[in-house]
Amino acid sequence: MSVRVRYGPSPTGEPHVGNIRTALFDWLLARRFGGQFIVRIEDTDQSRAVEGTEQLILDALTWLGLDWDEGPDVGGPFGPYRQSERLPLYVEAADRLIAEGKAYRCVCSSERLDALRKSQQQAKQPPGYDRRCRELGLPGDEPHVVRLAMPLDGDTVVNDYLRGDVFFQNALLDDHVLLKRDGFPTYHLASVVDDHHMQITHVIRGDEWLSSAPRHVQTYAVLGWDEPIWVHLPIIRGPDKGKLSKRHGATSVREYADKGFLPEALLNFLALLGWSRDETTTIMSRDEIVESFDLDGLGLASAMFDIERLSEMNARYIRDLDPADFLARGKPHLELRLGHSVENDALDRLLTIAPAIQERVKLMPEFADYTDFFFNDGPLDYANDALMGKAYKNKPWMALESVEASLQTLRSVAESGWTAEALEAALRDLATERGEKPGALFTPIRVAATGKRIAPPLFDTLETLGQARTLERLNAAAERLARPDD
Ligand code: GLU
Repeated sequence: MSVRVRYGPSPTGEPHVGNIRTALFDWLLARRFGGQFIVRIEDTDQSRAVEGTEQLILDALTWLGLDWDEGPDVGGPFGPYRQSERLPLYVEAADRLIAEGKAYRCVCSSERLDALRKSQQQAKQPPGYDRRCRELGLPGDEPHVVRLAMPLDGDTVVNDYLRGDVFFQNALLDDHVLLKRDGFPTYHLASVVDDHHMQITHVIRGDEWLSSAPRHVQTYAVLGWDEPIWVHLPIIRGPDKGKLSKRHGATSVREYADKGFLPEALLNFLALLGWSRDETTTIMSRDEIVESFDLDGLGLASAMFDIERLSEMNARYIRDLDPADFLARGKPHLELRLGHSVENDALDRLLTIAPAIQERVKLMPEFADYTDFFFNDGPLDYANDALMGKAYKNKPWMALESVEASLQTLRSVAESGWTAEALEAALRDLATERGEKPGALFTPIRVAATGKRIAPPLFDTLETLGQARTLERLNAAAERLARPDD
């Protein structure tokens, strides 16, 4: 049996990180077993559909690297892949069930249903349709919905892959709607009909759908179709054990991209929300996850969304990037900061210092903080206080003397010897010679060269900046210190 799994997003908004976990597990199962991953747009609730969101959903999948074999844009042998384009299939199933006495037309008005609900609430009875139209065998000439005639007693058993048999008392399940008055199916009918026609082998979804599963099991039964394997994933919780929500950082995939998370870090993180390879391994590449993924690695207990953990993972992934790749990914952030484009040759000059920057960047937009000064031609913007640092606080004349000594030393370094090692040796000797703490000497140099108190390692920075620009910037700093009141 070849694995066929589908991700069935409703186009009602941007995909949420919790929701995309389902797509990831679908994709992993398909890729692991050489099956197909299908995207099916579940747009039968027309009132909730939001224009443009289908594309955002596809974009989120693409960004994460979850490619699909069949879907609304690429088509496939079981299309169309938008439920709103498959209405005849749902009507056909509903008509068949009516003809066989397994479903029925119901003309109860929404006023009647509201009143029924209220009286059930008052009487503390479980809510649900009272089946008034069930035995009437109504013809289709009045506006109506179609309801499934559910069994009245006994249990429905849902065999969930992770939970085993789950029993639902039929007496507590009412006759739910299959087809609405507008001729559109409900989710309950559409998902079953499509999963059958699309030959879906595993339905993987969040456990908020477990309570609907007995309805689906009954629908398969009356239609005479084989059920797929049901996999209801454990609910995702925040560190406070509450259901995952915005306050835990559960926002759209795009917001994660914009904040500077790498797709491979988010993918690794999401894969661990309910799945694990073993007790200890946490960092795994996409390929490693695919290779070791299977349903037996899923568990019910372990889906905690901890943004701290994601941030740490992201920093780790950034650190492990190939430096050239790191620069390429940082480039758009730098260009945004500078307001102009940066040539690749110019960017390549950062290759040596890139690993040191990778140690410091936790989120990709910070790339600009650690690199923009290399591309700035005008005077840098910093306060004289920063230049003086702690050691020369309120003593601009002493800071000036220190900067002038540094200038002299740096001027004497031959251009050919302008390397981080040589610069470090020369400046450390100078500090010793002057009886100054190295930090006292280095702070003004760092601020003068970068305009910042926090920057990449000093000597690598100076090497990358080059002798001419370093001297120019230190001269500018000396001038500022000579006119401290400006
Ligand atoms: N359209 C449903 C949702 O957005 C899909 C549920 C399912 O996978 O069956 O959650």
